[in-house]
Amino acid sequence: MSSFPDIDPATGATIAEIEITTPAELRATVRAARAAQEAWAALAYAERRALLSAGGRRLAQRADEVAELVTREMGKLKADALREIAGWTDGFDEFLDEIGRALEPEVLRAKDRETRIERDPLGVVAAITPWNFPVGMPLELFLPALGTGNACVFKPSEHVPLVGALLHEIFSAELPEGVFGLAQGAGEVGAALVDADVDMIAFVGSRETGMKIMERASGGLKRLVLELGGKDPLLVFADADLEAAAECAVRHALRNTGQVCCSVERVYVAEAVAERFEHLVAEKARAWTYGSGFAEGVQMGPLVSAEQRDKVERQVSGALKSGARLVLGGRVPAGAGFFYPATVLADVGHDFEITRRETFGPVVSLTRFSGDEEEAVRLANDTPYGLGANVYTGDLERGKRVARRIRSGQVGVNRYLGSAPGSPWVGARQSGFGFLGGVEGHRQFTLPKSISYPT
Ligand code: ADP
Repeated sequence: MSSFPDIDPATGATIAEIEITTPAELRATVRAARAAQEAWAALAYAERRALLSAGGRRLAQRADEVAELVTREMGKLKADALREIAGWTDGFDEFLDEIGRALEPEVLRAKDRETRIERDPLGVVAAITPWNFPVGMPLELFLPALGTGNACVFKPSEHVPLVGALLHEIFSAELPEGVFGLAQGAGEVGAALVDADVDMIAFVGSRETGMKIMERASGGLKRLVLELGGKDPLLVFADADLEAAAECAVRHALRNTGQVCCSVERVYVAEAVAERFEHLVAEKARAWTYGSGFAEGVQMGPLVSAEQRDKVERQVSGALKSGARLVLGGRVPAGAGFFYPATVLADVGHDFEITRRETFGPVVSLTRFSGDEEEAVRLANDTPYGLGANVYTGDLERGKRVARRIRSGQVGVNRYLGSAPGSPWVGARQSGFGFLGGVEGHRQFTLPKSISYPT
């Protein structure tokens, strides 16, 4: 049996050796899920909801233990891990109610017949998740998968296998045998799960992996929901509240050490206010210190892995070579752990690699533009991605007008992009395929089935 090391990114030390799910074990897990699914789907939603809700209460009770493991395995601040968990457990039942609304049948009538449209589950759903929100991302996938009556086999990221196993233990304690399976391992196990006897793949991760999954799923015409990366712009017009825009740029470029799919990755600032804005950004970013996620008074933990840090380092040094100006940070510190300081780059070219490819690191990248609305829209849209975007302007109507023209799933105007609860989370263009969340998102785990009878 083979295994892989689970590394603490703050020290580089091995926390545990994790056994990789073998092909035979994976087949058995998927078979058990298939066998359990029909009875699970036959329960009334209220019964499934009660079991999932009990799982949510268990998670709330064990929040501290889960958060501790999150910090050890992927490095984020323990306070942030606790917030991630509370963000889910506080609104858990409302989320389950939303799944219930997604399942409500619809009745249509013609002269001679009545049609009842019910929402059927798809069967077995593979949930493949990343490490950056190791609690939130799995919940976002397996709750609607299970809630709508599917069985689910969950593969957490190889960077957070113990968090994945604990989440699985917490929820499967409430669920019928076989309904919720677990697989451990990296990309090969993910690929084997895609190939297995599953009906749908629900995935959150990189665009490159999303493309591989789509290709691989085509043979069986398996259903897909893919939530992928982004290269989110923040547009700062000359009439913007610069203080608020700088706060948004810094917080949302550096939060979670920049490892957020909807991080602010490109900032375009109007020439007329660029100098003042740069000064505000530098001042704020200086306060973002780094250290162990367990330490008091730090704002960022390490990056998740040595590879991730190398990638950030390569993009930053490439930008500097191409003519960007280093305002803050930008040097890999000596010592153990995969730390990288809060970094601010100015005069970054729109055509630099750091402006084109996802960075996923703690870098505020500043590019100047004329201040013209057309140019802002063009720059924002000049990317294959379409996840989020942010616009700051003193003219709210202009902000909304620009927001409507940006080809992305969610746009914040004079605030960061977070939508009100119940909104879907959408990756437009190459940031996703299908989408999650809200009644419409939950329905992607189902198929509408019409049953018609004479009246
Ligand atoms: P990230 O590095 O942001 O987590 P990845 O796309 O590399 O993004 O990984 C997301 C998830 O996809 C992880 O659980 C990973 O193990 C899994 N994965 C990686 N490669 C494949 C693949 N070819 N097929 C299926 N799953 C994969």
